[in-house]
Amino acid sequence: MNLTLERIALAAERLRLPDVPALVAAQAEEAVKRELSYAQFLEEVLVAQAEVADRRAADTLLRLAGFPQKKTLEEFDFAFQPGVSRKQVKELASCAFVERAENLILLGPPGVGKTHLAIALGIEATRHRLQTKFTTAARMMTSLAEARTAGTFSRRLTSYVRPRLLIIDEVGFLPLDSDQASLLFEVVSRRYERGSIILTSNKSYGEWAEVFSGDQIIATAILDRLLHHGTTIAIKGESYRLKDKKRAGVMQDPKTEEES
Ligand code: ADP
Ligand code: MG
Repeated sequence: MNLTLERIALAAERLRLPDVPALVAAQAEEAVKRELSYAQFLEEVLVAQAEVADRRAADTLLRLAGFPQKKTLEEFDFAFQPGVSRKQVKELASCAFVERAENLILLGPPGVGKTHLAIALGIEATRHRLQTKFTTAARMMTSLAEARTAGTFSRRLTSYVRPRLLIIDEVGFLPLDSDQASLLFEVVSRRYERGSIILTSNKSYGEWAEVFSGDQIIATAILDRLLHHGTTIAIKGESYRLKDKKRAGVMQDPKTEEES
């Protein structure tokens, strides 16, 4: 048995099945007791190896994605945000839109769950073994501008173009100057019809020219590519961050404030 295990270990190494030797060692005796056929035993070992490999790949992708927090769809309270359709989000969670290189744009005021949904869908993408990268618009612009100065622009640009899903959070939080706008255009147009983008913004499309310091042309060019194969979810609801404060009476509802 020991010699057999050694030979299995060598073959498993050549085939890059690193867990097979341990699985065989752990399950062989048990398989005899359970009177498994050879084929059933082989099946159990290979299925277990595939599951371990899947889990490891998903963990690596999760680490590489650089999510700022862990937010999941299970934690998202659809009852609180009736504007967000559970059915639509469930369909997005299948990641078929990432396979098709389509985009998703989440619009809405602060605190309505844009970042939460973007991260949760990003985590789903890593579970589907799709390479994902999370960034904010500000961080991406700084990183690309720095890389240009350092002479490593094309490599850095590739890091934003290569992942199957790129999440750009907080577009419009700070206005972009014309140099930053053209960097964003570069990323969006390089990914066009090749890789998905999830983009979040607190600005409505009508306000986008403002975000691009009044440059309607670049705003339109970016939107054009984003929306050609893109879905928009405009969340109009209330801020989740403020809900408990409102309930406790610390803050007044803006609507009641207006009325009084
Ligand atoms: P936004 O990006 O739209 O400003 P966030 O996604 O950062 O808002 O949400 C603010 C906080 O409220 C986060 O901690 C988030 O997890 C939580 N949150 C927002 N909406 C919901 C929701 N519908 N269910 C559960 N948590 C939510
Ligand atoms: Mg946010």
